[in-house]
Amino acid sequence: MQGLNQDLPLLLSSVLQHGATTYGAVEVIGGHANEAIDYDYVRLEVRARQLASALFGLGYGPDRFIGSLAWNTHRHLELFYAVTGVGAVLHTANPRLPPAQIAYTINFTGYETLFIDTDTLALAEQLAPQLHTVQRYVMMAPPGAWPPTSLPLLSYEDLLASGNAGFTWPVLDERSACLLCFTSGTTGMPKGALYTHRGTVLNALSTGGGNAWALNADDAILAIPGFFHCNGWGVPFFGPMYGAKLVLPGRRADSAFLHALIVEHGVTVAPGVPTIFLDLLRHCRETGGGLGRLNRIFSGGAAPPLAMMEAYLRDYGVRTIHGWGMTETTSGATMSFAPRDLPPDEALRAMRTQGRPVFGAAIRISGDDGTELPRDGITPGHLEVRSHWAAAGYFQRLEVEATTADGWLRTGDVAKIDPDNTLHLVDRSKDVIKSGGEWISSQALEDAATNHPAVREAAVIAMPHPRWQERPLLIVVAARPVTQAALQAHLLTLVPKWWLPDAIAFVDALPHGPTGKLDKQELRRWLADGRLDIASAPS
Ligand code: ADP
Repeated sequence: MQGLNQDLPLLLSSVLQHGATTYGAVEVIGGHANEAIDYDYVRLEVRARQLASALFGLGYGPDRFIGSLAWNTHRHLELFYAVTGVGAVLHTANPRLPPAQIAYTINFTGYETLFIDTDTLALAEQLAPQLHTVQRYVMMAPPGAWPPTSLPLLSYEDLLASGNAGFTWPVLDERSACLLCFTSGTTGMPKGALYTHRGTVLNALSTGGGNAWALNADDAILAIPGFFHCNGWGVPFFGPMYGAKLVLPGRRADSAFLHALIVEHGVTVAPGVPTIFLDLLRHCRETGGGLGRLNRIFSGGAAPPLAMMEAYLRDYGVRTIHGWGMTETTSGATMSFAPRDLPPDEALRAMRTQGRPVFGAAIRISGDDGTELPRDGITPGHLEVRSHWAAAGYFQRLEVEATTADGWLRTGDVAKIDPDNTLHLVDRSKDVIKSGGEWISSQALEDAATNHPAVREAAVIAMPHPRWQERPLLIVVAARPVTQAALQAHLLTLVPKWWLPDAIAFVDALPHGPTGKLDKQELRRWLADGRLDIASAPS
């Protein structure tokens, strides 16, 4: 027997309508450069309707793609809703990828219209000769705010003004595609994850709620992750869904600027990769600045160092929500949530883990032969995920086997799982150091190294070894002089003796990839090219 609930599709336009009717006066901060905007969720919805109507008039609807190459501004936010609201798909091209890869993702998808902003204009000009299908570029900036250009440029505001704010959002199939994000292509060319309305809405509902981001109308979110990286980790949807204020920083991500936004706009929650939070911490320490209303950071994309989480908690009363996810899982799938009144030591123990699956996601680990391994907190295995918002395959690359035969996404990560379903990420499969048949976690060694007060940042990669196949090499950016022996002695208090790095190299800075994570491919090239000054550790 069928139930008698109303059958309404889960659509992104319904998230926006909810925000406009329920939290209409909640502010959104962040126009183009120094542009002052008077903006809230009512205005967002009206402008998104107008833009949607204009796009519809240009023939956009289901099965059509539109691209953006842009940073986090209110116009980019409007684009998210307008494009998906007419049933078309928005490909958020990642301006941090190498130009050849950006061009590849745009050509591979194949569309005529690319939305840009003044901060990506030069990049768009550079890319234009390689973009085979793009015929029109739309500038998301106030009229006249851009320099002369050879690109066939249309003004966003003119396009929007040609639309009708009385446009009615069409009822779409909730399983239709809405957004397309590409992986950062650390192994081969980027692959596309094509999200559905249903998956995207469920992901935002589940990850924004309790035991995860725990958002509510008292929150102000600083949108640090680019909208092109896993849909900005859900932030474009969290605001209207939970009535939280949004603060959009545009292109800038330097700590002085982010700090000023946090304090000035009463930011309560800031998401980002650990590198961003390490920089912000250093800035606060150097300037003596406080963090205003900030009470939690959401750290994702890489394992956050314990010392960093400890400093935020003890010195600033800021908790870390630590999440695990990947482009193929829309944004987060597991989150570690430490209740506010947990004693700091217990809270930190919880924050160190990648947390537990949010509702709608399931995790398991398997051995090389595909058999499921126990959730005993000891046995490592290949992490697999199943979720309403996990990829079933790659966009136009159906030959790539994204999932196991029974439909679980292969993540490429190695993990352990506790009996209570808490995830402990060991490493990426390709980063784990295979020493004589045993595994050493590069992430755990990095965490142990950054726990030393003289270490600003650390990376661990494998060095070839005649007997053990691979041994760890520690690469350190030091905040002040420190000897190798002191570092080794420190590590020995935190990791097994056989994990101790065979060599330590000191560098001025470490390379980071397009989403701010350590670029270990580049470090391996440094090692192969003899660019690292390796001093062997005393045996
Ligand atoms: P890319 O693969 O392009 O770097 P993704 O954002 O898709 O970009 O990266 C996903 C990967 O990042 C995961 O497979 C995992 O290896 C790593 N990762 C994500 N979150 C965490 C975390 N909390 N701790 C450790 N590693 C993480």
